[in-house]
Amino acid sequence: MRIVTVVGNRPQFVKAAAVSRRLRERHEEVLIHTGQHHDDALSAVFFRELDLPAPDHELRLGGGTNLQQTSRMIAELEALIVGAGEAGVVDAVLVYGDTNTTLAGALVAADLGIPIAHVEAGMRSFDRRMPEERNRIVTDHLAQLLLVPTETATRNLEREGLADLTVDVGDVMTDVTLLVHPKARERADAWLAERDLEPGGYLLATAHRAGNVDDPERLTALVDVLTAAATTERPLVLPLHPRTAARLTEHGLDERLRGAPGVRLVDPVGPLDFATLLVGAAAVLTDSGGVQKEAYLAGVRCVTLRDTTEWGETVTAGWNALVDLNARAAVDAIDVPLPPVRPDVFGDGQAGERVVVALERAFA
Ligand code: UDP
Repeated sequence: MRIVTVVGNRPQFVKAAAVSRRLRERHEEVLIHTGQHHDDALSAVFFRELDLPAPDHELRLGGGTNLQQTSRMIAELEALIVGAGEAGVVDAVLVYGDTNTTLAGALVAADLGIPIAHVEAGMRSFDRRMPEERNRIVTDHLAQLLLVPTETATRNLEREGLADLTVDVGDVMTDVTLLVHPKARERADAWLAERDLEPGGYLLATAHRAGNVDDPERLTALVDVLTAAATTERPLVLPLHPRTAARLTEHGLDERLRGAPGVRLVDPVGPLDFATLLVGAAAVLTDSGGVQKEAYLAGVRCVTLRDTTEWGETVTAGWNALVDLNARAAVDAIDVPLPPVRPDVFGDGQAGERVVVALERAFA
């Protein structure tokens, strides 16, 4: 088989790390990196630490509005995928998750008549204001193979008439987490001590969703949440996503956040450092999809700064609370005692292998 894989941003590098090496053991992969994220902190460090093969083509298509970005990607991907086809038949285009890169890859493949395989298919927040929700719905409805991470995703696709195309492979991020978290636990005590942090003695936060940072009122509410949660006794470490950093500066909120007692802003960190911060945290506050899941897998309380989630299993099990940008609710949720059980809902760490087998069955 010859598969063209299209990735472009941080969570997609994590997901592809579970699949690309395995795929290459038995097949040919052409890896295209759209450069939706292209700097070291959001891109190169993931390729290094997660042993992802170097991209065959690396573009620089980040920036601009969603539509500008997606249309630039469509144009460039069309040329590259047509080129890949001239060098030999492309059996499928493999895309991950819900970003502009995912949508652009799917639209180009559909137009060129190449089958599409979508990893992390079937996720729904049921909030179409989110670009991610629109991207995943369109991608799922264009794809020929829907590789789902959870039973909830399977049910979502059934409701949309897509059951025949669905294969439950488990969550590819679990594969990576099961490799990285043990290393993180091993180094956590010493690594945290060097940074003047104690295991269980700090909070970790991430925030970058458009719905939380683009609108100044929402961004102010986010700053309220973060400054309310942080204290000098229990600091809050916030690896600052470049989008959030830019919006904070734009709306004059940077100083307020930076100067608040207990708030520690740092640059985005690589996957091993992030996992180390996560496994040692008293709780994590986040609007990230991936981080909600990683917190669950690590057994760390998650406080989600949104009012919907695609990862409802974490909420049902009592490990995740949806508080949106309500500072009072966020602070209250941080110290709720952890539930006694954590059902195994995100697969067994073999999702990457199942993705390859499903691709073989569908397209080889
Ligand atoms: N992550 C990281 N460093 C950071 C913040 C996040 O390595 O400073 C990782 C995190 O462990 C997870 C992924 O990035 O695997 C999540 O990416 P992001 O929150 O950007 O995307 P989302 O999951 O919301 O789509």
